[in-house]
Amino acid sequence: MTTAEFDTAIVGGGLVGAAIAYGMRALGDALVVLDEGDRAHRAARGNFGLIWVQGKGLGMPSYGAWTQRSAGEWPRLAADLREQTGIDVALRQPGGVHLCMSERELDARRAHLQALATQPGFARCDVEVLDRAALAKRLPGLGDAVVGGTRCALDGDCNPLQLLRALHMALHAAHCQYRPGTAVDAIEPIGDRFLLRTRDEVVAARRVVLAAGLANARLAPQVGLAAPVRANKGQIIVLERVQPFLPMPIETLRQTDDGTVMIGDSQQDADDEALDPAVLAAMAKRAVAAFPGLAGMRVIRAWAALRVMSPDGFPIYAQSRAHPGAFVATCHSGVTLAAVHAHVLAPAFAAGEVPEACADFTPERFDVRAAA
Ligand SMILES: Cc1cc2nc3c(=O)[nH]c(=O)nc-3n(C[C@H](O)[C@H](O)[C@H](O)COP(=O)(O)OP(=O)(O)OC[C@H]3O[C@@H](n4cnc5c(N)ncnc54)[C@H](O)[C@@H]3O)c2cc1C
Repeated sequence: MTTAEFDTAIVGGGLVGAAIAYGMRALGDALVVLDEGDRAHRAARGNFGLIWVQGKGLGMPSYGAWTQRSAGEWPRLAADLREQTGIDVALRQPGGVHLCMSERELDARRAHLQALATQPGFARCDVEVLDRAALAKRLPGLGDAVVGGTRCALDGDCNPLQLLRALHMALHAAHCQYRPGTAVDAIEPIGDRFLLRTRDEVVAARRVVLAAGLANARLAPQVGLAAPVRANKGQIIVLERVQPFLPMPIETLRQTDDGTVMIGDSQQDADDEALDPAVLAAMAKRAVAAFPGLAGMRVIRAWAALRVMSPDGFPIYAQSRAHPGAFVATCHSGVTLAAVHAHVLAPAFAAGEVPEACADFTPERFDVRAAA
């Protein structure tokens, strides 16, 4: 079996691995991305495409700040990707809306935002609470069932498949190595480097970044790290292409840059990718209540995909104490966080550190909770 030598090996070429690799692309052919490919679960290919800030960070204010920072970094990421690859990732940040279909939902939303904003250390983020009349002015075609909602100017969306493609094209242009169809079966820390065993070869690297989504749970302990992630199923319905009618994304409904309409995204504690008709029917019913005009549109496809969820829902970023040079990165909002992964996390990992802004995201927080 042959051994190939690299400075850095990234395990996983989904949105997290590709964004980190993109941020390290100056390494050129000393960087390799090992990606299992189509047999693996790939949230990066089945997601909703939102860049979403509002409502995030309850219980961990630093997550709110990290998300806001990423939304602020996104225009630079999109512009750089366009310049380097010619790909337009269809970034829009016109603000986004969370709809409430009853007074009870609106009260619960207000209470959530209030609790979030009053946490010590929470970075200020303006979210407007809008009544039905104010929302209807911004969202033509809004159904009578909507009683109000909240809007944050930082929210937006993009074309997540184009994002993944652009990141990979930029890696290719920088001469980084990408190995699809290459599952890492085992990792052995040996001296100051790591041996990554795949079916066909052994890859040696001075630094390894685990960005293998759900597979991080199995790989991380091999380098003295923990990533206790589990699957959370989300389902999405896509409607036919229509004239633009939604000027901004809604948390569960958006019109893509090519005119199709996406309805999403459910959350279930499940690790299968089967479609669940009862869940799809409930999603469609709520969407039609919000925008009755959707009732006449044809469904063109639907799918389920698995989110990568940590026990508290916040990201995990860490460097191994036992084996410095081994890093882990995982989160459930890899589209939103792509910009900080590329611009902040990757340079810090390349310098052998976890950024200060990520100090709260180590997996040791789960040990404290388990012991408490
Ligand atoms: C339904 C749904 C909707 C979502 N909506 C949004 C949204 O609106 N906004 C947002 O920000 N995020 C959203 N997400 C989350 C986002 O898609 C994920 O955060 C992101 O894709 C996670 O990327 P990842 O690279 O960690 O994991 P994945 O995309 O799962 O990629 C993991 C990669 O690792 C590879 N791999 C696995 N095992 C190995 C191994 N042993 N060796 C080598 N490679 C391996 C796989 O081939 C895969 O390419 C959504 C997710 C889902 C499922």
